[in-house]
Amino acid sequence: MSCLVKPRRDHTRQVVTRVLVSAFGGCKGTRTLEEIPQPPSWASMTDALTRFHPTRTAALERLHRFLPQAGRNYAARRNYDMGRDGHEGVSTLSPYIRARLITEAEVLQATLARHNAKSAEKFIQEVYWRTYWKGWLEMRPAVWGQYKSALKGALDNVQTQSGLRDRWEAACKGETDIDCFNTWAQELVETGYLHNHARMWFASIWIFTLRLPWELGADFFLRHLLDGDPASNTLSWRWVAGIQTPGKTYLARTSNISKYTEGRFAPKWQLAAEAPALSGPPKPDAMLLPEAGLPRPTQRTGLILHDDDLSPGFILDAGIAPVATAVITTRSGLSPLTVAGHVTDFASAAAQDTADRFGARLGTISYPAPTAEALAHWANAKELDQIVTAYAAVGPAADVLAHLATTDGAPPLYRVRRSHDSAAWPHATHGFFRFKDKIPQLLEGPWAAE
Ligand SMILES: Cc1cc2nc3c(=O)[nH]c(=O)nc-3n(C[C@H](O)[C@H](O)[C@H](O)COP(=O)(O)OP(=O)(O)OC[C@H]3O[C@@H](n4cnc5c(N)ncnc54)[C@H](O)[C@@H]3O)c2cc1C
Repeated sequence: MSCLVKPRRDHTRQVVTRVLVSAFGGCKGTRTLEEIPQPPSWASMTDALTRFHPTRTAALERLHRFLPQAGRNYAARRNYDMGRDGHEGVSTLSPYIRARLITEAEVLQATLARHNAKSAEKFIQEVYWRTYWKGWLEMRPAVWGQYKSALKGALDNVQTQSGLRDRWEAACKGETDIDCFNTWAQELVETGYLHNHARMWFASIWIFTLRLPWELGADFFLRHLLDGDPASNTLSWRWVAGIQTPGKTYLARTSNISKYTEGRFAPKWQLAAEAPALSGPPKPDAMLLPEAGLPRPTQRTGLILHDDDLSPGFILDAGIAPVATAVITTRSGLSPLTVAGHVTDFASAAAQDTADRFGARLGTISYPAPTAEALAHWANAKELDQIVTAYAAVGPAADVLAHLATTDGAPPLYRVRRSHDSAAWPHATHGFFRFKDKIPQLLEGPWAAE
């Protein structure tokens, strides 16, 4: 693929002009990131948005199509990866849940309306894996910072070590000697989605067979997954590498790949025979969760609608009536490199869908740049007394909001957390198996009100 300079185009009418670099740029030498040319538009090269239409209607249709499978069928078939046109054994809801075009609480409620908790136990647990990872990282935000600085170091090495750069580019392009790996790399780049088992195999091969830094693999995922999420992605890669659960790694085996792809792949003698755990910085102690905000309904209020939570009904239904809404998308902040167009376009179009759906309830809608300065300027122009927004967990949206909260002259910012998160996150103190014991109690909790 060629390298061309091109500003990013977002459907939310933002023009993001950050100059970044693509893994596919084939860029040689020691130029700085700012000097390396841009790839052409990605959206036109993928069918991700045809497969995952960025609307709530599409999310609901997908949920209702999947619901009959969410019981024992899911438990039996969820580990099988039948290729890009055969993901019927799983819900493929993750891009929608990631943007909260549909919420975890809605998915769980619909599941329980159709199945009893026992027969849908496996699916319910998987939905709670996401909640668990988010809570775990929220209490240890330094782990995201550690990942970002290690990634920067790995990208510096890519710039200066041509052998590493060639191996990294071959892996990202799906041009290694390993067929299944190449197929998954291409599926990811072209569709924005990968089956969970393929993600595990892919990460394991990346780390233990190709011996590439795990942070580069996690970054490749974040740049292309429609559901790319700081918590689920970083912590899953750490888990495969043996850093998250110290000493416990995930080894991709030929027999397992062959069984769960029903013979599509059998990479004999090509995979690492062992997976020695990598080392990482010590795990920080869990912090208390930040306080959630309680805005006053009587004040002149502005709402920030961001791409971590595109279901603002729970705020509006609590009596908040914004006079103005600022819509921002922050996915390009997931990586120092260029995030694929289908990822930013999905978020922008999903945000637009939400703005259209809620229409008059949002007041005057604006599309400022996703920076604290632009949001403070918007708030002052609208003469706001307070700003309200859905709580954003660790990641680029949370960074913008944190910066806004300390910006001189900006009105107070209230980050309202969903009861689903508030009830579950404090239990993410140890491993998932301890957390899982709380699920029956959580299913009876206040989240049902959302
Ligand atoms: C290396 C690696 C990287 C990953 N990166 C991400 C990521 O960036 N974003 C992301 O959402 N998930 C990530 N996952 C978790 C999981 O692979 C995806 O959530 C799942 O494949 C999404 O497909 P689905 O919607 O069809 O899942 P289903 O099996 O239908 O599950 C329903 C929902 O439960 C949640 N879920 C299911 N499995 C997991 C899991 N293991 N961890 C966390 N949540 C889960 C998702 O929200 C999903 O939509 C990663 C897993 C691995 C091994």
